[in-house]
Order: sequence, then structure tokens, then C-alpha cells
Amino acid sequence: MDTTQTTTTPVPPLNLAANFGQVRDEVLAELTAICESGYYVLGPKVVAFEEALSAYCGCNHALGVSSGTDALLLAMMTLGIGRGDEVIVPTFTFFATAGCVARLGARPVFCDIDPETYNLDVGQVEEKLTTRTKAVIPVHLYGQIADMRPLLNAVNRHGVAVIEDAAQAIGARESGPEGKMAGAIGTFGCISFYPTKNLGAIGDAGALLTNDAKLHEKATKLRLHGETSRYRHTLVGGNFRIDPLQAAILTIKLKRLDQWNEQRRRHAARYGELLEQAGMVPEHVRLPREINGTHVYHQYVVRVARRDDLFKHMQERKIGVGIYYPIPLHLQECFAYLGHKPGDFPHAEKAADEVLGLPMYPELTETQQDAVVEAIAAFYRR
Ligand SMILES: *Cc1c(COP(=O)(O)O)cnc(C)c1O
Repeated sequence: MDTTQTTTTPVPPLNLAANFGQVRDEVLAELTAICESGYYVLGPKVVAFEEALSAYCGCNHALGVSSGTDALLLAMMTLGIGRGDEVIVPTFTFFATAGCVARLGARPVFCDIDPETYNLDVGQVEEKLTTRTKAVIPVHLYGQIADMRPLLNAVNRHGVAVIEDAAQAIGARESGPEGKMAGAIGTFGCISFYPTKNLGAIGDAGALLTNDAKLHEKATKLRLHGETSRYRHTLVGGNFRIDPLQAAILTIKLKRLDQWNEQRRRHAARYGELLEQAGMVPEHVRLPREINGTHVYHQYVVRVARRDDLFKHMQERKIGVGIYYPIPLHLQECFAYLGHKPGDFPHAEKAADEVLGLPMYPELTETQQDAVVEAIAAFYRR
């Protein structure tokens, strides 16, 4: 172990309080107004946010819900997915993507990823389609949109729905003049406003996007126990409500989202330059690539040699790195009943062993970025 280490700048994994500082006065005014209004669930603030969000994403309808997870669940409930159905999901993603499928009694059918984008491999999706396939859930991992056009071409003619897991990608746009925003491309788009996401609430919140008026209407009912009028239920839904405080905060922050995403993109470009200047690329560190449209860098994820040792080294220097995600879902204990084994999805398994997320948020400073890169260089030089 290197005992001569010099003191480095600690770099926190997040800086949510600094982000709040930018909207403090507006948020506190709304908080006071909402508390005094006595109106604490759904209501006009939620409707205003839904309108602002659908306008921003360029889709017809947005429904505010309780979390990104619940947006996924609600999308599948609205499509009537359940026992006997199959839903194709990438194995390399956050747990919720597949967890929601299993919670409804349907079968998650895993597919491997494209090792360059970490997003689902459309060729494998085609191989896994059966007569039981009801939906595919592409995940726009780390903030880069999955390869949507070939995916839509592959599944549309089979009547299979596409539910975008856009939890990490709000504000990302497909390339080209016809390019759409993440979440507005498929049958449904699911957004998370978990505090660490690019647009973060101060608690749990999410949204369900769609261009289809009928699906939107059904999802709206399911958000409130399938109520059509007071105490009259035509469907079995749940409580997937968002509260006006989260909606008001998100409305304020949405106005700044493009600016914050642009800052993330600048930090990403600078990480790349610094890592190259330090002689880390490509021998020790492989940089993320922007392939499908605008990457909004929810995470800045590099691939590295001796990842676990580097992870420890960075933690010792108080640099907030993260591993997204260390275990692909086909190898999770709760999915053992699906009968998978190591080697089934080699690209995902390799990524799980090699990825490392560097600190990434709009407020990240140049000094902090320098410290991150110096710490990486120190590890490989010793
Ligand atoms: C965060 C996230 C979710 C779940 O969102 P919550 O709001 O935390 O429930 C789902 N999928 C992906 C890819 C995510 O990153």
C-alpha cells in the first residue's frame, strides 16, 4: 500500500444541497404556499407540472406518479401485463426494470447489452420474441438513449409494446431533425425524479409519459385505485400519486434542467481530456462514447482494469465513485427460478466487472475533477 500519498481534495459522490441552493427562495415560497393551502395530494400544482413536463419532452401526456418504479409498474398494469406474459429487459440495469415485471407475475426475459452503449442488444431482443411477449423495456442507461429505431422496427409488427425506462435520461434527445426526447418515443416512457437523478425531487417521485390518450386515461384511473368517480371502481389500481410539493419543486427545477445537463456534458468532455492527458487512455481506462443522440451523463462511467482495487483506492482518497451495477440481474438470487448461470450474458457480466462511475453532477468543480483524475493516474503509475 502506498503510504506516501499526498492529501487530495475529497470529492463527494453528489452535492444535492448545492443544487438546492440554486432554487432555494423559489422552493421555500412554494413550500409555504402549499403548506398554507391545505391541499397536499395531486391538485393544480400537479396538473401544472404534468403540462410543463409533457411540453418539455414533446409528448401528448405526462402523468405524475409516486416513483420511477411505480411508473414502470403502472405502465405494465395499464397494458394488462400479468401471469403468462413475457417482458424482455436488459440484464444490465437497475433492479426496478425487471423487478416490476416479476411483481406482476409476468416473466422477465433477459437480453444482453451492446458493450459500447450498455443498452440492450436489439438483435437479441428479436431472438427472444415469442407469442407471449407483451412488451420490451429498453433502458437508456447512464443517460444515453437506447437504439430505438431498430428496436421499434423489430417489435412493432408483432404488436409488442415498448416501455422506455428513461429514469436516467430525462433531457436526452435522439440525433437528427426528427429526433425525439427520451421517454417520448415508445408506447410509454418512465421517468424517475429520485433525488440523485438529473431532475431530482426532495423525496420519491416519477412520471409516466405517453402519446396515447386512451392509455393515459386508463393509467390516470389506475393511479387512484381504478376510480372512475368517487368510490366507484372499474379497475383494480393502486396509490401511485405524486404530491404537489414534489410537483412544484420539479416545475421550478425543470426550467434549469437543460443548463444542468449541459454542465454535465462539459464535465464529461473534460474528464475525457484529462484522462487522455494523464496517459490513462486506452490502456487503463476506456471512456464512455456518445453514440445515440445527446448523452445527458446521469453517470459518467468508464471501464477500467483492476476495477475493484481502483474502487478501494478511490474510496481511501475520499473520492465518491460508484459501481452501476456490480451484479447483472440474471445472476440475482431472486431470479434464480429463471435458471440462468454465469456466462449466459457475457457482455453484461464483463461490464459488471469493469465499470466505474466517477463523480458527476452539475456543481462539480475543475479542482474536484483534477483530483479525481490525479487519483486514478496515481493508482496505475505506482
Ligand atoms: C432510478 C431508476 C429506476 C427507479 O426509479 P425510482 O424513482 O428510484 O423508483 C428505474 N430504472 C432505472 C434505470 C433507474 O435508474
